[in-house]
Amino acid sequence: MGVTRRDFLRLSGAAFMTTAIYELTAQSSALAVEMDQEWKLVNVDETSTICCYCSGGCGTIVSARDGELVNIEGDVDHPINRGGLCSKGSSQFGVNSVYDDKTGDRIINPNRLQKPKVRRAGATDWEEISWEQAIDEIAARIKKTRDENYEAELDGVTVNRCEAIASFGAAALDNEEAYIVQKLGRGLGLTYIEHQARI
Ligand code: SF4
Repeated sequence: MGVTRRDFLRLSGAAFMTTAIYELTAQSSALAVEMDQEWKLVNVDETSTICCYCSGGCGTIVSARDGELVNIEGDVDHPINRGGLCSKGSSQFGVNSVYDDKTGDRIINPNRLQKPKVRRAGATDWEEISWEQAIDEIAARIKKTRDENYEAELDGVTVNRCEAIASFGAAALDNEEAYIVQKLGRGLGLTYIEHQARI
């Protein structure tokens, strides 16, 4: 006797329901083991963002639990990378944390700089300073250099420029940040403005 398409679907549905009812009611050891597992991404806050490394702009999902980073992975819904990350992007977790060779414990990456450092003229060591102090010192130097080197005219032609300062952006800047840096540079009269946005 032949089995029609309708018979096949009915028999498949019955078989599926029988299996499902058994799994939900019987003491299935496989089901019990799964339920005991601690899933890595349970109860996390997910934030979609962009890889911090190159201008490729691959989308990532950052998962955190109680404010602590748990996981970073490619965003499958992102139109650029469809969930894929290159080897550099896949290692973004290491920017925050590494695993201790001896204990195996996860620790904050000891090579990560969390405060600005400055090496004064003639000094051999780097000095740690606050963000406020760093911003104040950078602003004062920019103003002094611009005031001393600003040219309004050259040979009777208006130029309004300062050639003593250059701006060099990096791929870690996003579109909006790059726009603001560019605008600041043009406002100061800089002519040497470059941006490295290549892998
Ligand atoms: S470093 Fe890799 S993952 Fe990150 S944006 Fe570039 S290509 Fe994408």
